[in-house]
Amino acid sequence: METTDNVTGLTGDAAASTTPEWSAELATVLTGAAELARAAIAEFSGDETVGDYLGVGYEDPSSGTHRFLAELPGYQGWQWAVVVAGYPGADHATVSEVVLVPGPTALLAPQWVPWDQRVQPGDLSPGDLLAPLPDDPRLVPGFLASGDPQVDETAAEIGLGRRRVMSAWGRTEAAQRWHDGDYGPRAQMSQSTKRVCRDCGFFLPLAGSLGALFGVCGNELSADGHVVDFEYGCGAHSDTPAPAGGGSPMYDPYDDGVLDVSEQPAEPR
Ligand code: SF4
Repeated sequence: METTDNVTGLTGDAAASTTPEWSAELATVLTGAAELARAAIAEFSGDETVGDYLGVGYEDPSSGTHRFLAELPGYQGWQWAVVVAGYPGADHATVSEVVLVPGPTALLAPQWVPWDQRVQPGDLSPGDLLAPLPDDPRLVPGFLASGDPQVDETAAEIGLGRRRVMSAWGRTEAAQRWHDGDYGPRAQMSQSTKRVCRDCGFFLPLAGSLGALFGVCGNELSADGHVVDFEYGCGAHSDTPAPAGGGSPMYDPYDDGVLDVSEQPAEPR
């Protein structure tokens, strides 16, 4: 008899052929235990919960697993798996266990993702606590405060006095993110102007190595408070010339003095 296991894709004969010490008599006993398996499910969960027979697979020479479609509310695509076993020379099989297992089309919960991999930029809300990972590659140990105000003041200016500071890797990663982000040279705003932040009066350079490429915009009408790339730019650059005349910089003023005014001919009586 050839039967198919929907999960493994093996047929009973194929599974048997992978087991050198397979006994043909016991194989017949195990394969023929399908109705025994169905009865075990009916006893366990009720006759109406067992659906179509799906086939049998073999784990080893003395046990097989019969599968049936599960007819249970909320278990669409699940299967009953009944393990039957027998000893060499046995004339009947016995039921070892009855379990529900997900089939290939079963509706399953999404795979669980640890919280630290679920948190995304922008998820942090007021009052939330978000500790860095123990081995966060963005951070490296800093130096402890010495207790000498003069030394500590100088140390704070150059970034010492904190338990951890950003690593070179963390700074490089941040720099790349800023460069590629909304205030980098490829942003739409930047592409629409030739003026760049590095020579703008509103540009406030960062301290440290990142100051070679980034600063903060201090123009409340533009990227106020955001880190901007040297090569970013906007139309509110401090060197942007004022528009000529009193109208819009996009259009010439409307002068109604140059219009010809003609009288409308009188209506014929
Ligand atoms: S006003 Fe525009 S050009 Fe000047 S720093 Fe801010 S974003 Fe850059």
